[in-house]
Amino acid sequence: MDHGARFREARARLADSEADILLLSTGLDLPYLSGYTASPYERLTMLVLPESGDAVLVVPELEAPLVDTSDGLFGVRPWSETEDPTAIVADLVGASSVAAIGDETWSLFLMKLQAHMAKTRFVSATPLTRELRMRKGPDELARLRAAGAATDRVVAVIPTRQFAGRPEQAVAAEVAALVVEEGHDHSTFTIVASGPNSASPHHRTGERIMGEGDSIVIDFGGSLGGYQSDTTRSFHIGEPTQEVSEAFDVLFAAQRAAVAAVRPGAPCASIDRAARAVIEDAGYGDAFIHRTGHGIGLATHEEPYIVDGNEMPLEPTMAFSVEPGIYIPGRFGMRIEDIVAVTEDGVENYNNSARQLVVVG
Ligand code: ZN
Ligand code: ZN
Ligand code: ZN
Repeated sequence: MDHGARFREARARLADSEADILLLSTGLDLPYLSGYTASPYERLTMLVLPESGDAVLVVPELEAPLVDTSDGLFGVRPWSETEDPTAIVADLVGASSVAAIGDETWSLFLMKLQAHMAKTRFVSATPLTRELRMRKGPDELARLRAAGAATDRVVAVIPTRQFAGRPEQAVAAEVAALVVEEGHDHSTFTIVASGPNSASPHHRTGERIMGEGDSIVIDFGGSLGGYQSDTTRSFHIGEPTQEVSEAFDVLFAAQRAAVAAVRPGAPCASIDRAARAVIEDAGYGDAFIHRTGHGIGLATHEEPYIVDGNEMPLEPTMAFSVEPGIYIPGRFGMRIEDIVAVTEDGVENYNNSARQLVVVG
């Protein structure tokens, strides 16, 4: 990862924006730019990156040994337990008039910074950092592609597992183990939603014992070289009813239509519309209760968001999920999710495992 190029790009975008300094703490903008991740605790870590002049990482003294400064992009200002790190940041910012601060900075720190810097106006750093993070480099795409292929191998194994008579948690633990066996550094999340729980898109996997006639939604992901995977497939214990089969055919067509709509220049919202039109035409419009997708990279959910109203045109190297779902409260749910990337002339699927409703035992 070329952090030097990212620093240069961030400074160029600062020059073009109302902000003249970038302040990054917890969250993924800091590791994206610098390779260093702030500890998510009550001691402040903050990169102070001015439009011109030296960048400085303000870091708790006891964590300074973790910081790699070998590429010379920033200096380090360790602070000791009796110092006020927000005063140190305020000093470094000086007379800056508009500071762009990371969205995931704790409000505790922002409020103290505001108290020290009465003349500085704070704005969100995301409009700036998302412009960098949305457009992936070849090394980033390679990791996303490898992570996607690893989840495909997990999907291929899932139907060999026993579902009926076991709790959701037991299958979730097996999927999480497979995520690592198939090449991820670690599992990030696993949703196994069964029966009526499958109608809850972000169901918290629990102790429900699965049984004949259950629809099953399995949504899972892992991290590979810092980059995330996120895949959903739908299963059924025993043969599905005609109602479930017909709903699944609609969902399958919707997901394929949305992926087929991906190309440079297509607005994000048009991908959502492509999926939603198929589902609405079949009478399931009210059952598709979330956006069609989200960008993916260092974070599992990041820009661009594939949602109605987002008219931003897609560009080559953007990577995101396409994951329509149909949810009938109290009864059943289903979702198909793939990660795709925009290419020069269309789309590349990073997930290529079978998407059909698979009958399991
Ligand atoms: Zn989700
Ligand atoms: Zn997912
Ligand atoms: Zn997702």
